[in-house]
Amino acid sequence: MAMIEKILIANRGEIALRILRACNALDIKTVAAHSTVDRNLKHVGMADESVCIGPAPAAESYLNIPAIIAAAEVTDATAIHPGYGFLAENADFAERVEQSGFIFIGPRPETIRLMGDKVAAIAAMRTACVPCVPGSNGPIGNDREPNVLMAREIGYPIIIKAAAGGGGRGMRVVRNEAALHNAIALTRNEAKAAFGSDVVYMEKFLENPRHIEVQVLSDEHGNSVHLGERDCSMQRRHQKVVEEAPAPGITMEQRLDIGQRCVDACKRINYRGAGTFEFLFNEGQFFFIEMNTRIQVEHPVTERITGIDLVRQQIEIAAGKPLPFEQKDISWRGHAVECRINAEDPDTFMPCPGQLDFFHAPGGPGVRVDTHLYDMYRVPPNYDSMIAKIICYGQDRKTAIARMKGALSETMIGGIKTNIPLLQRIMSDNGFKTGGTNIHYLEKRLSESGR
Ligand code: ADP
Repeated sequence: MAMIEKILIANRGEIALRILRACNALDIKTVAAHSTVDRNLKHVGMADESVCIGPAPAAESYLNIPAIIAAAEVTDATAIHPGYGFLAENADFAERVEQSGFIFIGPRPETIRLMGDKVAAIAAMRTACVPCVPGSNGPIGNDREPNVLMAREIGYPIIIKAAAGGGGRGMRVVRNEAALHNAIALTRNEAKAAFGSDVVYMEKFLENPRHIEVQVLSDEHGNSVHLGERDCSMQRRHQKVVEEAPAPGITMEQRLDIGQRCVDACKRINYRGAGTFEFLFNEGQFFFIEMNTRIQVEHPVTERITGIDLVRQQIEIAAGKPLPFEQKDISWRGHAVECRINAEDPDTFMPCPGQLDFFHAPGGPGVRVDTHLYDMYRVPPNYDSMIAKIICYGQDRKTAIARMKGALSETMIGGIKTNIPLLQRIMSDNGFKTGGTNIHYLEKRLSESGR
């Protein structure tokens, strides 16, 4: 078993701090790799060592593979944690990390590569009996006839998707046969330009699904468990705004069934580390859309209701330890809701970085705050606008939401605009309070209110 003595954190913001906290709890030394504008980040000040890996633009720092590897070399780090975003799902990075003699805290490079190709990922999931959206089950060609027949068989509306797509891009909905051929050609061209691959496939377009995802953990010894599901349907432009666990209305039978399918799939693909199977949930059925091979922003809601520290488990798995629990040891208690706080205008959604005057975090029973903010911190304009996450727990959903309302009104961020007013409206919204709204709900409510 490898001893992990020192971890280089190749990320920034709240997730870098989250990783640092996990390292501290495990008595592992830390190296903060940061850009020039991030010298004042909270975790940089707290880490045992820090290394500047480049200027503000992410392409020259947090995406700069040679600079990150060099930082690990000069600090004699044992392992590298990529966090989420940036290089977290870059198979070439994972490979370079391992080839340079460091432990990559994440899945094997070949697994990341497999899941990054949606056509290959869906094929792997079908073989593993994970339910997928009815579709072409592989790349589609340019000939009209077979595509027309396939679309008829699937039934309109359908969606054309790029195999290498990501971030909600490289997709086009087709509602009738007349539009089919053109849509395929357009998506193919866009995919080639944006992702360097013109491989596209066809899927049934589900009109009003919910987004429900399943958290898994797998070690190097063939053990896999699932930690139940999260509902992340409250989205704007494919960006999650509020997440919760468990998903409203999902029965224990459904949870255990879909969870077991994910566990079986992990074993089949020899998965390692933490991962998430994302599903669209439509009329009582789950349909796999993709797998995220990393820790996710919304992981704390699962941590709260299972009592399992996911980042700690990532590190222990990377060190070669067997999972300290089996499926039968995992249970779910109460309800947790997470709100993502962004530095943005609550009405126009324009990013609003800048200088903070003060920051007061909320507190009290069942309230967790993951943030790198402090008084007088300056939010740089170069990165994602998420600046904090509030996670509230209650013995039931109603209590969790009530605590979130209180926590949001307690949170004081002076000097910059945030989306807290929007989050407050969501917490008081009748549809949200009832639970089980679909992925279009938030955008519909926003357009009704003229936003
Ligand atoms: P990405 O990797 O770009 O996030 P996904 O495959 O996860 O792509 O899809 C992103 C979003 O697009 C989904 O969350 C969902 O809102 C929508 N979407 C994708 N496939 C379908 C489908 N078959 N039917 C309806 N909506 C879909």
